[in-house]
Amino acid sequence: MNEGRVTASNIKKINRNRVYRMIYQEGTTSKFQLVQLLEMGLSTVSYNLAALNEEGLIKFDGFFESTGGRRANRIQIDPVARIAIGIGILSDRLHYVAADLYGHMIYKDTYPIPYEHAADYYKSVGEHLQQFISSHAIDEKKILGVSIAVQGIVSRDGHSVNYGVLMHNSQMTLDDIKPYVPFPCRMEHDSKAAGNLALWNLPDIRNGVLFLLNQNLGSVVITNRVVQWGDHMRSGLIEHTCMHPDGPLCYCGKRGCLETYCSAERLEKESGMDIASFFRVMRETNAPELRRIWSDYLSKLAFVIRNLSVTLDGVFILAGYLVSYITKEDIQLLLDMINALTPWPLTEDQLRVGHSGPYTPALGAALYYISAFIDSV
Ligand SMILES: [Zn+2]
Repeated sequence: MNEGRVTASNIKKINRNRVYRMIYQEGTTSKFQLVQLLEMGLSTVSYNLAALNEEGLIKFDGFFESTGGRRANRIQIDPVARIAIGIGILSDRLHYVAADLYGHMIYKDTYPIPYEHAADYYKSVGEHLQQFISSHAIDEKKILGVSIAVQGIVSRDGHSVNYGVLMHNSQMTLDDIKPYVPFPCRMEHDSKAAGNLALWNLPDIRNGVLFLLNQNLGSVVITNRVVQWGDHMRSGLIEHTCMHPDGPLCYCGKRGCLETYCSAERLEKESGMDIASFFRVMRETNAPELRRIWSDYLSKLAFVIRNLSVTLDGVFILAGYLVSYITKEDIQLLLDMINALTPWPLTEDQLRVGHSGPYTPALGAALYYISAFIDSV
């Protein structure tokens, strides 16, 4: 008897989740369409719609055009019924984003707070979170959780930073931040968060490599639509691919890593300009020295993509800070550079560009709570 009751309640739960997911997936739908798409009885669909509506998770928004009979209600999920917050911790600033249930960035802010492994800093992360929430009038009851993207390799359980040489945050743990964040919270490696955002936004990709073109380079490997962690959370650290054993010193302690050629930091060092000025002056004046620096950057990236393309047959995605400065011509040039080197040329759709710029890791991290919520409805 008991078992029977459990099964019935499971089926009830599954049906409810299927109804919600189908509305989510369709964007706008009607009761009749749901009955058809789900092959579910009208009474079950009606019951679940009423329950989801009462909980504020879906809304009835106007009517479809009449096709003769009674006009059907337009049904949608309420995308802001719940909100996930993402924080990006960088060495010189904090990024905050709020994402709706479709993973759209609805609010974003940057605060110029330099990282420091100190209680005052972590307290300040919490204070800025409160400032972000109140300045955008976000209802705290709707917040699913706060997901924190950090530079550095984060442990499998999302609790501590295992390798944080770049930002000197190797001692950082979630316990440092938790006292100042009155919501569920977790940490994630920024590159892996960016990989999850790419998977979210590009439903057609299966395998690939994402480059996070930030102040420091990040990267991640995706196979069968899963961001690879590896045995020690070190899969996909392509930024430490050795280009020249005698090259410039990398922060990892070794020489000639891709990081030393393809970070925004390198562009700034070599040109003596900040990134915005570098791209503005290069585009406006076509200065040969700046062109050379940029072309060298792209050629190093092309070299690595060429080599990766024979190991991993998939797409190559550029994301992060520099993407907002990259033009269509740059992408074409990069593709030409890759294809001049490789025996199996990449097609145009194998080279993709992300859209969330510097907020990519924070937004990617926030998706964790959204996926979990959708699974749990
Ligand atoms: Zn390195």
